[in-house]
Amino acid sequence: MKESNSKSKDENLGGTIREVKDYREVLNYSKKVLDFIANDELETSDIKWISKETVNNFRDYVNPGFLEYRKSVTENGEFAAVEWKDSGLNSFVDVNGKEYIDCLGGYGIYNVGHRNPKILKAVTDQLKHQALHSQELLDPLRAALAKLLADITPGNLQYSFLCNSGTEAVEGAIKLAKLHQQKNGKHYFMAATGAFHGKSLGSLSATSKGLFRKPFMPLVSGFKHVLYGDIDMMYKTVKTSSMVGEDIAAIMLEPIQGEGGIIIPPKDYLAKVRQLCDDFGIIMIADEVQTGMGRTGKMFCVEHYDVKPDIMCLAKALGGGIMPVGAVIATEEIFKNFFPNPFIHTTTFGGNPLACAAAIATISTLIEDNIPERAEKMGNYLMTGLKNVTSKYPSLVKEVRGMGLMIGIEFTNNKIGYSVSKGLFDKGVLVAGTLINAQTIRIEPPLTIEKAQCDIVCEALDKVLLNVESAKLALV
Ligand SMILES: *Cc1c(COP(=O)(O)O)cnc(C)c1O
Repeated sequence: MKESNSKSKDENLGGTIREVKDYREVLNYSKKVLDFIANDELETSDIKWISKETVNNFRDYVNPGFLEYRKSVTENGEFAAVEWKDSGLNSFVDVNGKEYIDCLGGYGIYNVGHRNPKILKAVTDQLKHQALHSQELLDPLRAALAKLLADITPGNLQYSFLCNSGTEAVEGAIKLAKLHQQKNGKHYFMAATGAFHGKSLGSLSATSKGLFRKPFMPLVSGFKHVLYGDIDMMYKTVKTSSMVGEDIAAIMLEPIQGEGGIIIPPKDYLAKVRQLCDDFGIIMIADEVQTGMGRTGKMFCVEHYDVKPDIMCLAKALGGGIMPVGAVIATEEIFKNFFPNPFIHTTTFGGNPLACAAAIATISTLIEDNIPERAEKMGNYLMTGLKNVTSKYPSLVKEVRGMGLMIGIEFTNNKIGYSVSKGLFDKGVLVAGTLINAQTIRIEPPLTIEKAQCDIVCEALDKVLLNVESAKLALV
């Protein structure tokens, strides 16, 4: 709670009551935290202090809802674990020194691992001479990154707008599509059920979950949703929309749905969507924010289907697990709508030198270390292991599915998924399973994960499933 003595209202200056803050407390507190940052090792007293402060500050100043929500990452139901530092490429430790294999990968940000030395070097080297850009001169790293993105993305994707997140990349894509299709009289957008594209008002309009959307209605108008993977429904909706004068400007899709629970569409789906877009003059937007940068075994997931989108959204792993970076990349035909006035869509921090240094190093590392190929191999290895283990528990596990190292384990119900993610957490394996929905837990480790670590994950899962099964049997 706020200290009651931190403010005094007794000074009367120039006839107005002025609030005078006592900054001494603030200064002391900030110094204490800075000491904490500067330390590599923690004393027992530091651990106690930071654990207590973190929980209290979350309760009083961040959002107490998180403490309830993060129960699955709570040791003995006492208090939420407080993270502290990375430990090698694929693990991290909490303030108590407990190590976790990271099978969540920050929802897909750690493709090249935690604090990969190559990314770290590029960012610290850049930091030595310039952190942020002047905002007025031409910045060389923005230019170089845009060129590299054009080189590695499929088809004629050429011009990039750089931003700070996936949400912003999606916003940029929506605005580019609007601008391009305005003159063609096409004002409507189509996305899919199960889709996640972000939570800002524009991107939320494309996102599908009613739980996130409904409280903020009305959203940006003109978004229609069709069942993911159902090309007939998409065709019929495009057709009927056009018949009633609500022509579709763009269709936005994830090649594999991440947030939706690792949903892989039918094999020919994306190619058929591409064809449909061509037939009706619709822009195809691939949201590769989570599937991109090698995650599924190729640099971009659309490459598995030989599909070339008109606009692609990137973020998450693009910053190499060190900097936040996003990008929306479009063909010249579409992007040229931004040429006459480049200030029509801008951002202060997007494409800053530190972010670009990280992204350039990420692209370089993905290629030099054959990381997409590694994701495919290690993905097959881990998936085989997970399938072997889960096949012993058919009453608990419905399916293991995935591509590369984007893997989902679907349980027979939400409660089992929650118990499993909690059990794995206790055994030092972090997965994405939450209080809100753990029916499918996501396994998205760094693409640098080692075979031995995959083995540990599978062994831990076996033990946890056995426990959950015995607890379940004990109940009936
Ligand atoms: C995470 C995600 C986003 C949003 O990215 P943020 O960086 O969280 O804004 C958009 N689309 C997809 C497919 C994502 O997985």
